[in-house]
Amino acid sequence: MAPITPASPLDLAGNRPAPLIDPFARAITYLRVSVTDRCDFRCVYCMSEHMSFLPKADLLSLEELDRLCSAFVAKGVSKLRLTGGEPLVRRGIMTLFASLSRHLDSGALKELTLTTNGSQLEKYAAELKGYGVERINVSLDTLDPDKFRAITRWGDLDKVLAGIDAAQAAGLKVKINAVALKGVNEGEIGDMIAWAHGRGMDMTLIEVMPLGEVGETRLDQYVPLSMLRARLAERLTLEDIAYQTGGPARYVQVKETGGRLGFITPLTHNFCESCNRVRITCSGTLFMCLGQEDAADLRTPLRASEGDEALHRAIDAAILRKPKGHDFVIDRRQQRPALARHMSVTGG
Ligand code: SAM
Ligand code: SF4
Repeated sequence: MAPITPASPLDLAGNRPAPLIDPFARAITYLRVSVTDRCDFRCVYCMSEHMSFLPKADLLSLEELDRLCSAFVAKGVSKLRLTGGEPLVRRGIMTLFASLSRHLDSGALKELTLTTNGSQLEKYAAELKGYGVERINVSLDTLDPDKFRAITRWGDLDKVLAGIDAAQAAGLKVKINAVALKGVNEGEIGDMIAWAHGRGMDMTLIEVMPLGEVGETRLDQYVPLSMLRARLAERLTLEDIAYQTGGPARYVQVKETGGRLGFITPLTHNFCESCNRVRITCSGTLFMCLGQEDAADLRTPLRASEGDEALHRAIDAAILRKPKGHDFVIDRRQQRPALARHMSVTGG
């Protein structure tokens, strides 16, 4: 990768660009970037078996991704999460972590992190730690190898577990994210909590969101977390705590394990009031809300000139359109996704 020219955090008058404040007075400080729409798994709630992916020419280069992220950092984004698809299958991805780490060094960025399926972690964990990554999210829905293969369609649980071992050995703090799936892992969640907490990892449960056609009906996959929580509470003492990671999860402390358990409930509970985030796809489309269609093309202003003025203007204009919130519903009559795009496009 060619050397990257740092994006100037100052405008032509020598001032720092105005921070990003949306129409509802929310400061946008968290950017999630999908660095690829491709993945080595095909999780049943996320992708269909035969996905068509973007042509390589549509993807932003790693240099362009760096420029885009840096423009947001210059505008006050202090937390950056790389996601996908599977971020660690993007060729050369470590060079992007390496270049972005300069914003950690400068103090502009407080956190550089990623969400991964763990399959490549064994290879990259130590390097990630070296680039200033401190905490990572690993998605894992079951500890049963056969169920794991069924959920991911062709994933290998052992590889993921080896990746988690490597991450912890490298000193990365790992949080496990598990999507609750009706009739698949709902009976296993208690054991997974004991496993995760036993290894010093927090765990977060996620409700299935109606994003993209995946070839199965959502009603078959959906289990409300309120129900799961009530079931867990029969066996475990769940104490509400104020702990926040800047995300939408609400946390409890599990008295028996001493570990934290988060709940992300987009369907049964609305968490939009405190939303501080926006998302970029690997082709440079900015989504102001995970649950709405409105988007802004940032690739055109990015490629239009070497300077960042047009890009900054496009970002400012887009943030002024950030909606108040999403309105996910699993449509019971038509059983169709609320949004046509898959989670792997916007990165979850
Ligand atoms: N491949 C990486 C991974 O699996 O962690 C990063 C991308 S993945 C799209 C990010 C997160 O979105 C994962 O935790 C995954 O379980 C979750 N996810 C994908 N599709 C979802 C859906 N329809 N509803 C809820 N969560 C979903
Ligand atoms: Fe890949 Fe992550 Fe989607 Fe699973 S959830 S198919 S690992 S992008």
